[in-house]
Amino acid sequence: MSEKVTQEGVIAWLRAFAAAVAANREYLTDLDAAIGDADHGINMDRGMRAVLGKLPGAGEPEGADEPGELSQEGVGSLLKTVGMTLVSTVGGAAGPLFGTLFLEMGKAADGAAELTVAQWAAMLEAGVKGVQARGKAELGDKTMIDALVPAAQALNAAAAGGLSLADTLWGAAEAAEQGMKATIPLVARKGRASYLGERSAGHQDPGATSSWLLMQTAAEALAPGAPAERPGA
Ligand code: ADP
Ligand code: MG
Repeated sequence: MSEKVTQEGVIAWLRAFAAAVAANREYLTDLDAAIGDADHGINMDRGMRAVLGKLPGAGEPEGADEPGELSQEGVGSLLKTVGMTLVSTVGGAAGPLFGTLFLEMGKAADGAAELTVAQWAAMLEAGVKGVQARGKAELGDKTMIDALVPAAQALNAAAAGGLSLADTLWGAAEAAEQGMKATIPLVARKGRASYLGERSAGHQDPGATSSWLLMQTAAEALAPGAPAERPGA
């Protein structure tokens, strides 16, 4: 497969994720109100707004030192900057965890000007491993891991099978969505929701939901057109 994700593609993905987080700010916060402290949408929106201010062509928003400086530096340093921005602007559990996801993705992509499907899959896997190393959550603990691990597995399988970029990304989005929905009946074993014990069951995990948005916006930004609309899907 010669298809590659360019730095412009990664920037389009980050913008799409920021827009999705902003559009779902109340929804994510409502999910967190049920099993946490009602701040997940607020946290993620604050972080992604700060990220937008660091992207090339962002103008001169407050707090962004030199927008545009990233444009020459490749996908890896772009993603590392995203990670550091999230760590420094988002509080709670999600800031360090999403920050780690992007930092580790950035390290995995270091030096690359663009990414093949296989590199994309490896990058995501490295990010998810970083989140697990930091948060110690396993599949089934009712966290963002329940959306991210299936997505990373789907990406690896698609890359190994030589699938197109579009099929790969939409497959990962679908896997993340299923993982997100599968958190509903689970009892939380990590994070704030675990304080509720059995009462956490019956609610969708907020971090799994924002993680699904991350995978969904990758497909939307890098392989536009819903799967059913694409020929052969
Ligand atoms: P806080 O819980 O500190 O208020 P947020 O509300 O922003 O932070 O994020 C909550 C989300 O963080 C949860 O829905 C869950 O997906 C995720 N989370 C919490 N703890 C962990 C962990 N140890 N590992 C992975 N994800 C976690
Ligand atoms: Mg919260």
